[in-house]
Amino acid sequence: MLFERQTFLVAGLSRSGIASAEYLRGKGAAVYLYDDVDDENVRSAQARLKELGCIPVAKNELEEKTEKCDVLVLSPGIPIDHPLPVSFKRAGKRVLGETELAALALRCPIIAVTGTNGKTTTVTMLESILREAGRNALACGNVGRPLTTCISELGEDGIAVAEISSFQLETLLSLRPHVAVVLNVTEDHLNRHYTIDNYIYLKSRILKNCTESEFAILNYDDPTVRSFAEKTKANVVWFSLREKVAGGYIADGWFCFEGEKICPEEALPLGGDHNRMNALAAICAAKLFGADNAAIGNALKNFRGVRHRLQTIGELNGVTFIDDSKATNVDSAVKAIGSVKGESVLLLGGKDKGYSYEPLFEEMKGSDVVHAVIYGENAFRILSAALKKGFTAVTLCRPFDMAVRIAFLTAKSGQNVLLSPASASFDAFRSYEERGERFAQLLEQLRAEYAPSPSAALVPIAEDTVDEAE
Ligand code: ADP
Repeated sequence: MLFERQTFLVAGLSRSGIASAEYLRGKGAAVYLYDDVDDENVRSAQARLKELGCIPVAKNELEEKTEKCDVLVLSPGIPIDHPLPVSFKRAGKRVLGETELAALALRCPIIAVTGTNGKTTTVTMLESILREAGRNALACGNVGRPLTTCISELGEDGIAVAEISSFQLETLLSLRPHVAVVLNVTEDHLNRHYTIDNYIYLKSRILKNCTESEFAILNYDDPTVRSFAEKTKANVVWFSLREKVAGGYIADGWFCFEGEKICPEEALPLGGDHNRMNALAAICAAKLFGADNAAIGNALKNFRGVRHRLQTIGELNGVTFIDDSKATNVDSAVKAIGSVKGESVLLLGGKDKGYSYEPLFEEMKGSDVVHAVIYGENAFRILSAALKKGFTAVTLCRPFDMAVRIAFLTAKSGQNVLLSPASASFDAFRSYEERGERFAQLLEQLRAEYAPSPSAALVPIAEDTVDEAE
């Protein structure tokens, strides 16, 4: 693409939009900027990018200014059926994303990882393995480091380990990963993608440009992902917890790859079958890139997981607090319920994404969840699913702070308070990270009130520590 000759409109000024604008200006392109939102963050991004020569566009001048633009660079946060991409497409102009810009320029191999859950965990784990094996691998993409910012660091010899979300897949045209990994597909983001079929189709797009020279690492145990093998020309490498497949599997307590023992299963400090699956996917990709078994074993042994994913953050009066704020859909919460040791009081709720919560309560029958405290904007939808499934050990409480407090007061010594909300955080927080941080703050507040230490006894018990904002 001849960047100097083109005029771009970058829409959406968060991390990837900012990176796109910087990248394009570096290539000498003319860059206009637009965001539907007009807040502090957007204004400060606009001010910084203006210094690079970008031109911010106000809502009322959008039509006039966008006529001059040849290409729309759409941030993952903006849906493909927003009026802006629709108008560009109608005018026969190109609409692409930041990942696509990088795909056009990257000179090194790309491992692209998608799936409903486990992407960040897997790319982070894979980055560690490949680095341990001496490769210049970088976890990038949706994991928080835009691909365009990694191009020069990766050079020709690096390996881009790119996390790709369904939002990014909406605007991906020419990405042809050397290795594409699909971890799983379960219901998520239906408020954005409308139907599960459309969501599945988007996930399958990661394989669309792959040929016989590329590899597709696919989850054999997930029927949707398994069916992707029929749609791709790439060489399929399977991973499975259930069968000895051609690829990654577990046998006699060992992670194995194509008949070879790689390292003992117990090397992985993270619990849960889902993390064993993530490890198998990472091992398959690492082996395709020639990583040695010692490096794989060492990297797995030292892998401590990623924040806000089933992370034990502390204990108070025998009650363990577990932060799984990143469990923003039903399947991830189901995995938490299945893998956390001991009985739990579960905190559920937040922003609805259009799917059913009934499978969650189906799973809860016979599980170690003794009580659910339901909060947030979707509290009544969750409550109705609970009651429909006959799960009545519930407390309904809209504000998050109060819900955490109730969960703690409900839990007995030896039990957990598990924040695994099966919902997005945007009803009350800017992100799942902020929700997880608030959970940790609330633990400290409760500690000041309830810890049985002599110094804590001197602290007057606050009448009401609930955040005013809630
Ligand atoms: P993603 O980047 O796809 O959102 P993360 O690694 O950030 O995935 O994990 C998100 C949530 O999903 C966490 O609650 C985590 O415990 C859970 N999780 C991780 N791996 C899997 C998996 N393979 N299947 C289901 N849930 C998973």
